[in-house]
Amino acid sequence: MSHERPARGEGPLATGGQSPTARGRRPQPEVDASAKLPAVATVVFKRTNHGAAEISDATGGGAGRRSARLVDDVGMSEPVDAVDVIVTKRDRGELSDAQIDWVVDAYTRGIVADEQMSALAMSILLNGMNRREISRWTRAMIASGERMDFSSLSRPTSDKHSTGGVGDKITLPLAPLVAACGVAVPQLSGRGLGHTGGTLDKLESIPGWRAAMSTEQMLTQLEDVGAVICAAGDGLTPADKKLYALRDVTGTVEAIPLIASSIMSKKIAEGTGSLVLDVKVGSGAFMKDVAQARELAQTMVALGADAGVRTVALLTNMQTPIGLTAGNALEVRESVEVLAGGGPQDVVELTLTLAHEMLAAAGRSDVDPADALRDGRAMDVWKRMIRAQGGDPDAALPVARETHEILAPADGVLTQLDALKVGVAAWRLGAGRARKEDPVQAGAGIEMHAKPGATVLGGDPLLTLHTDTPERFDRAIKALEGAWFIAPEGSRPDLLPLVLDRVE
Ligand code: URA
Repeated sequence: MSHERPARGEGPLATGGQSPTARGRRPQPEVDASAKLPAVATVVFKRTNHGAAEISDATGGGAGRRSARLVDDVGMSEPVDAVDVIVTKRDRGELSDAQIDWVVDAYTRGIVADEQMSALAMSILLNGMNRREISRWTRAMIASGERMDFSSLSRPTSDKHSTGGVGDKITLPLAPLVAACGVAVPQLSGRGLGHTGGTLDKLESIPGWRAAMSTEQMLTQLEDVGAVICAAGDGLTPADKKLYALRDVTGTVEAIPLIASSIMSKKIAEGTGSLVLDVKVGSGAFMKDVAQARELAQTMVALGADAGVRTVALLTNMQTPIGLTAGNALEVRESVEVLAGGGPQDVVELTLTLAHEMLAAAGRSDVDPADALRDGRAMDVWKRMIRAQGGDPDAALPVARETHEILAPADGVLTQLDALKVGVAAWRLGAGRARKEDPVQAGAGIEMHAKPGATVLGGDPLLTLHTDTPERFDRAIKALEGAWFIAPEGSRPDLLPLVLDRVE
């Protein structure tokens, strides 16, 4: 039996290990990012062997060199070879659709080795990809797994993705707020790695709350409650899971084509109707400057448009942490304060701004989310959402066993509080993990008593460090060296706005 590939431009590669269609999931070949792809020659490919798993060492091209040979309908052969793909990109060439489809698919199945994909990822980081290549790469990543479908819900869906920052707890108040305004939020979230926190780690500090959900449970909760924040199942974009872990240990996370395709493949596969991207800019973000962040935002917005997902991006300031806390339970506490009508001004502002964008993207610009925050509807949805996932929203949150205060050395105006340094210190206190299997401490993290622009008094607490393991204090304090600057009284720091730009 031969396995036919779809004609180029018709659909993605068929993949091994595709899960059976379930309610809420649709089988892969419906991916259609192709409409906007440039026209390409129509060649129907057939595999020479019985399925992908048999493709190996076909050319005998040297130790560790693996390749596949694809044969078209008229018997012409077209070799696709991992080394050819690497060399093409290393030499600043353009990858063909067939090369992209093959390399993503073959890497997912283990035919392309980690060291080969590392070399390709580094070549992509150094030499970039054009618009067609990124679109095709994203499509191939989506095609590596399942897609979810929420079109049976009685309300429109919208999701938000943040590229990651320090103290970024916005998903927690935002998802129930948008749901309270009539738009369902299917939020598949991740765990923290390095200095940026993860939404699931934060929510797991709530006693009983669990991140794992089936598609059926998600659909039921979205219909009943309106919001779900949970872990993505293993079936969604397995190519990204493998590739992201590899990029993390090979210095290739920062490649814009790879970040854009990683984020957008997951969001498109997740099946949201519309999407708002919070692209962070500054020391605590992947993107250190606005030009880079704008390029990433434009790339992702275009990928969303290709896939028929209305996508808007905001560029937001991550030079300083968001809110007054960085750490899991500390950030849950702050999020609940926002839902109760209080909380730090920047968290409230960003939550409401993103809520407006999500509602507008889902066709509900007539609703004002500030009303749902004020009258307690968002808090009601939060409690129902937490309970639906086994958590007790009224239970006391974990508190770290030890604290250490850092005092302001002099009177003056705080002009700088560096997001990256605060994030690294919170991570060292136990709020984050160095390897994905490491545990996190629910109570660990940093409380900030002032933000840039505030007047501080010498001897007053500037930061409180929290951890269960006090031997961590020294390294955290070291990470905070140079993190803040106190200018003489009366100074007026030139502070950046929270929202730096908008891309649609
Ligand atoms: N977040 C992702 O999901 N992928 C990336 O590549 C970077 C950030």
